Amino acid sequence: MFKNKLSIKMIKYYNLINYNLIYNNKAINRYKKENFQISDDKFKRLELLKKSIINLKNCKLKKKAKNLVFSDGNPKSKIMLIGEAPGASEDEEGLPFVGRAGQLLDKMLSAIDLDRKKVYISNIVNYRPPDNRTPSEEEIARYLPLITKHIEIINPKILVLLGSTAMNAIIGDQLVISKMRGKWIEKQFGNCKTSAIVTFHPAFLMRQPAQKKMAWIDLKMIRDKKLKLKI
Ligand code: URA
Repeated sequence: MFKNKLSIKMIKYYNLINYNLIYNNKAINRYKKENFQISDDKFKRLELLKKSIINLKNCKLKKKAKNLVFSDGNPKSKIMLIGEAPGASEDEEGLPFVGRAGQLLDKMLSAIDLDRKKVYISNIVNYRPPDNRTPSEEEIARYLPLITKHIEIINPKILVLLGSTAMNAIIGDQLVISKMRGKWIEKQFGNCKTSAIVTFHPAFLMRQPAQKKMAWIDLKMIRDKKLKLKI
């Protein structure tokens, strides 16, 4: 009885202080339903997907990693970005693109008036590969159905593939990024029809700043597509 009274008081208090506005920084809860008012169905499907990743058996990446890195951003967004794999900072925080490459990604997004509240971000694999190595073919093959499901649930109209690992996993193998970047490729994942574009990974751009001019072309294409699709 006392407990009930207390919880009613708590609910009233939370309503009063507009509890939904409290920003929950825990990776696992960043897409909390109330934060972005996503449908029950989308929320449940994302939770189920997360559980199936958490329950993966005999995954060496998972065994060595500190945290699951599921996603960041707005699950209602029509723009989804996919990177390669979490690094040390991402593993520590449980969020994608929070290290130096993430800072550059944020700048790239802001150049076309986007930010993490306007896009949704995930990676091909959800756990950090030891020593930041590239995920192996076997690891990518294992995670591919999961990221494909992730795309299907988010249902973006624009899919941005950051770097060759994301490109090879999603578009096809043995492709050369310098030839593939800056083109729209129509893709379908379940019921999700999306326009995919490949661009350079921000970590690559930090090593090869001369390529930033090409990335800028890709970013402008994304901006124009967004305007064209009215999203
Ligand atoms: N690089 C990636 O591909 N993903 C991250 O989350 C961070 C760095």
